[in-house]
Amino acid sequence: CGIVGYIGDKNAVPILMDGLKKLEYRGYDSAGVAIYDDNKILVRKYKGRLSILEEHLNEEKLSGNLAIGHTRWATHGEPSDENSHPHTNEKGDIAVVHNGIIENYQKIRKFLIDKGYVFKSEVDTEVLAHFVDYYYEGDLAEAVRKVLREIKGSYAFAVISSREPDKMVCVRKENPLVVGIGEGENYIASDIPAILKHTRNIYLMDENEVAVITKDDIKFFAENGEPVTKEVFNVTWDV
Ligand code: GLU
Repeated sequence: CGIVGYIGDKNAVPILMDGLKKLEYRGYDSAGVAIYDDNKILVRKYKGRLSILEEHLNEEKLSGNLAIGHTRWATHGEPSDENSHPHTNEKGDIAVVHNGIIENYQKIRKFLIDKGYVFKSEVDTEVLAHFVDYYYEGDLAEAVRKVLREIKGSYAFAVISSREPDKMVCVRKENPLVVGIGEGENYIASDIPAILKHTRNIYLMDENEVAVITKDDIKFFAENGEPVTKEVFNVTWDV
């Protein structure tokens, strides 16, 4: 399973597909992407090999300068197109990819259903998309921080929203996620080899740190919202 994300001026789609291929060794049963283009988020996700996703994306000639991609190893909900990531809120303006398990998802799901939220899948991850929507008050990173206070389990996840299309917000705990530093573009990935051909300058994320990534800037915040200063890790090895 794996995550790759891109924000910058290039077409994110081939960058994501290449990165996800480099994460195939981690194993997966489905794959998908959320692409921000023309003021909206497009989601394409399919059970099966990455080549199936790639064929659809090529056929549709989709492109965008902000996108997140995922390979899934199902833990909750059978492998299917619908259960594949990204997962979205009802409006489809918030998209989430996640590796790991949200252990208390059933409690959160019930809470959100009581508030009127409608779920489309059986996947634990889907609560993240609706929960970010629930807490959203104009600041995506703040909404993610509020979600973090409530969720239990292991996770690496990334969120994009057409409400704030200049950024990706991501977090990890007990699952890997790194941030790749580019020039006028930035990356996220589950593992360094997925983005090594684009950059050797990496931030290694600490547990429950929130990363807010725009094309020109990367900021980290502690769970309480305090800014965190991090050292750049320079990758000297090759794959
Ligand atoms: N628990 C999530 C699911 O079943 C994420 C699995 C993964 O790590 O890929 O979809």
